[in-house]
Amino acid sequence: MLTTPATLDRFLTPSHQRLWADADDFAAQEIHPLVQHLESQPSRVDRKVAQLLAGRRWFGVTVPAAFGGMQAGHVAKTILVHRLARVSGAAAAILQAGLIPVAALLHYGNADQHAALLPGVADGSLLMSIAVTEPDQGGHIGGMKTSAEWDGKAWMLSGTKVHVGNSHLAHRHVVVARTSEPGTRTSQALTAFLVGAEQKGVHVHRYTGRIGLHGFSFGVISFDRVRIRPQNVLGEVGQGFDVAQSSSILYGRPNLAAVSLGLHESAVDLTTQYVSQRPRYKGAVADLGVVRDRLGRMSARAIMARILAYHAVDMLDRGLPCDAELCAAKSLGHELAAEAGRDAMELHGANALLEGRPIERVWRDMQTTYAPAGTGEVQRIRLAQALLHEHGHPGEETEHTQWSVRLAYLTRHAHEDPAAAL
Ligand SMILES: Cc1cc2nc3c(=O)[nH]c(=O)nc-3n(C[C@H](O)[C@H](O)[C@H](O)COP(=O)(O)OP(=O)(O)OC[C@H]3O[C@@H](n4cnc5c(N)ncnc54)[C@H](O)[C@@H]3O)c2cc1C
Repeated sequence: MLTTPATLDRFLTPSHQRLWADADDFAAQEIHPLVQHLESQPSRVDRKVAQLLAGRRWFGVTVPAAFGGMQAGHVAKTILVHRLARVSGAAAAILQAGLIPVAALLHYGNADQHAALLPGVADGSLLMSIAVTEPDQGGHIGGMKTSAEWDGKAWMLSGTKVHVGNSHLAHRHVVVARTSEPGTRTSQALTAFLVGAEQKGVHVHRYTGRIGLHGFSFGVISFDRVRIRPQNVLGEVGQGFDVAQSSSILYGRPNLAAVSLGLHESAVDLTTQYVSQRPRYKGAVADLGVVRDRLGRMSARAIMARILAYHAVDMLDRGLPCDAELCAAKSLGHELAAEAGRDAMELHGANALLEGRPIERVWRDMQTTYAPAGTGEVQRIRLAQALLHEHGHPGEETEHTQWSVRLAYLTRHAHEDPAAAL
C-alpha cells in the first residue's frame, strides 16, 4: 500500500515511492532508537548516524551510476532528507550537509577528481564537507579572510571556517579561500580546494553543543599553512564563488526546505496527537472550535510547504529554470515550519517546555534552518532580483545568471562524456 500523500502524486514515480517507504523504515528502525541518546549529549560528536547513512549509500543519491552512485536525482534526495527529518533533524542535517559538497564535486570536479572521489562518496567510505562561512563574514562570501597563496609549487591555505556541517566527521573538506589581491571582484577572487582532514595544519576545534540538531556536528575548522597541490583545486583558480554559490543554491536550499518540511510535519502530527488526548471538560482540547481552527491552519501550511519543496526539486530534475522556486522553498519552508512550531508549542501549553518532550526537540531543531544556505533576507533579495529580471541567458557567465539554468547548460555539455553525466 502506498504511504505517499496524494498531494505529491505528480512528482513521485514508483521508484520514488519505494525510496520513500525505505527511508521511513530506516528512520523508524535505525534512527528513532538513537534519538534520546543524541539529545542527552549535545556536545558529543556522533559517528553512528553517518555510518548508518553511508551504509545505505545515500550520500551518493545524486552521484552518476557510472561511479557506483544511485543517480536518483533531486526529488529522491528531497525524499531522503524530508523523511529522516520527521524522526531526527540531526540525521537529516548529517545527510544534507554531506550532499552539498558532492554538488560542488559533481559540477566543478575534473575527470581525475571524479574518478578518485565519486566512487568513495557513492559507497559511503568518503564523507565530504563544505567550508565557506567565517566568524566575521557570515553569509557575505566576498568578505572572507581565509586565503591561499601560491608558493611556486603548491597553495598554502590559512584561515578559520565556522558552522561547517559534519566538521568532525568529514574525510575531505571543500574549502573556499581568497586567492587574489584585495580589490579583485568576488566572482574572480576566490578558489575552492579539496583538503584532506588528516593533512598537516588542519585543526578541528573541540565541539560545543548548539540549541538544536544534537548529534549533528557543525563546528570550527582552522587551517594553518596547509599545503595543497594544484591537482586539488576544485574548478578553475578564481571560480570559488561559483562553487560555493551553485552548491548552496542547487543543493543547500532544497535540502534545507526538506529538513524544514520533515520537522514541520512532525510538529503537526505531535500536536494533533496531543490535543486529541489532552482532556478538557467532557472531552479533549481538540474538541474546542478555536483549537480546531488552529489545527486547520497548521494543516493548510503543511500542504503548502510540501508542494513548495517538491515542486522546486521536480523542476530541477527536469532541467527547468527554478532558482526562484528554490529560494521560495527554502525561505517559506522555514517560515511556515516556524509558524507551525509556534502553534505547536502553544497548543502543548506548559508541557511543551519539559525537556525530553519530542515537541521541544522539534521546535529547537526548527530554529536551525533559518541561517544555512542563505538566510530569509538573502533569499528575498534573490527573489527580488528575479522579479527585476537581473538574469542572463544559459551559458552567459554573469553573476545573476540562474544557477538552475547553468546546471542544465552544464548537463547538456557533460553528456558528451558519459562518465561525467550528471
Ligand atoms: C545548521 C547549520 C549548518 C550550516 N552548515 C554550513 C556548512 O556546512 N558550511 C558552511 O560554510 N556554513 C554552514 N553554515 C553557516 C551558514 O551558511 C551561515 O549561518 C549563513 O551563511 C549566514 O551567516 P551568519 O549566520 O553568520 O549570519 P550573518 O551573515 O552574519 O547575518 C546576520 C543577519 O543579518 C542579515 N543580513 C546579512 N547580510 C545581509 C544583507 N546583505 N542584506 C540583508 N540582510 C542581511 C541576515 O539575514 C541575518 O539575519 C551552517 C549554519 C547552520 C545553522
